[in-house]
Amino acid sequence: MYQALGLRDQECTRTRYEDNMIKLEIKTREDKLRCAHCGNRHVVHDGKTVREFRCVPIGSKPIVLVKTVFRLKCKDCGKVLDEPIHFATGKRRYTHKFERYVCELSSAMTIKDVATFVRVSWDTVKDIQKRYLYRRYNCPDLSGLKHIGIDEFAVQKGHVYKTIVVNLDNGQIMYVGEGKGSDSLKKFWKRLKKSGAKIEAVATDLSAAYISAVKENLPDAVQVYDHFHVIKLMNDTLDQIRRNAYARAKDEDKDFIKGTRWLLLMSGERLKNSEKALAKLEEALQMNKPLMKAYYLKESLHEIWKRAIKPEAELLIDEWIAQAKATKVRLLRKMAETVEKHRAGILAWYDFSITTGKLEGINNKIKVLKRKAYGYRDDKFFELKLLSLHDPIYPFAG
Ligand SMILES: [Zn+2]
Repeated sequence: MYQALGLRDQECTRTRYEDNMIKLEIKTREDKLRCAHCGNRHVVHDGKTVREFRCVPIGSKPIVLVKTVFRLKCKDCGKVLDEPIHFATGKRRYTHKFERYVCELSSAMTIKDVATFVRVSWDTVKDIQKRYLYRRYNCPDLSGLKHIGIDEFAVQKGHVYKTIVVNLDNGQIMYVGEGKGSDSLKKFWKRLKKSGAKIEAVATDLSAAYISAVKENLPDAVQVYDHFHVIKLMNDTLDQIRRNAYARAKDEDKDFIKGTRWLLLMSGERLKNSEKALAKLEEALQMNKPLMKAYYLKESLHEIWKRAIKPEAELLIDEWIAQAKATKVRLLRKMAETVEKHRAGILAWYDFSITTGKLEGINNKIKVLKRKAYGYRDDKFFELKLLSLHDPIYPFAG
């Protein structure tokens, strides 16, 4: 009973076979009965109830323990209580060993598969996993944090958001906040302060809400605006200019411009080997001056992060801003102003080469998680799943 089922001090009084399950009727051996309050063994019977517990299977047959629970009156402390049950917690209807068994199966099977296999509900398997994840991953220790990235993602497109803070040194999600913007980080700042962590640098996108929240809560940390986001903004600007060019083009040119989107957005480096693509690109650029200017500014923007030393990048960024302003293309001047406004944080990359690139990788993992659709049903469970994503021995499949 102990080796196989994890039961101590129990005797089996009868075995039944019912509903395709083996039912073991058990009770505590008389000499092992103790008071649940003081542990004394001077107790007398004062009634009984029966509780059923799921237990690990024997062979392929599910086991149910039908346990007689004695109500005991203690001669020492005078309390009348049910005998203590060592093999299960609280009102749960399965044993500790069954929980461990479900966790082990979960490393190779989805929740749905485990539930079907052991014949319990989806929610029971989820609850067991959730408690395990909670013990292991809830509220990670923030005290050693130095470099962090902040980003948001949509749980449901357009209306439910979460904000995550990632340790950029190892890719671990340290915090999951509800919503987006500065409110979503409030609890994080509180916990961070308590932890005594000394944050050196923070990577964010160009969103004003995060920038001011970081400035306010970590005045000594260096803010690095991620180059991925700056380049994305430039690509969006270029694409908008292409759409404007399309709208203004003569009918016979429209189709041509329409087909150039990928050419414009692809890096020149990658186009080098295709003469046909280059010729097409050249033709599109000749057709429309603003488009041409935007294209070359997009290409040269990349260079800002490719200098050997910061002073070179400083010269380059100023030149870039001046060129973009001189174009007299409204969208490019707007982009120039954005780059100018964030100049220090863009160049801070030369002091701390951190990017939210890790966050992009994490976002892909999150997409896979979401596809499996637990995300919406139980917020805390989803949060725990996120907090455990970094773990190479991440315990659960599916
Ligand atoms: Zn007692």
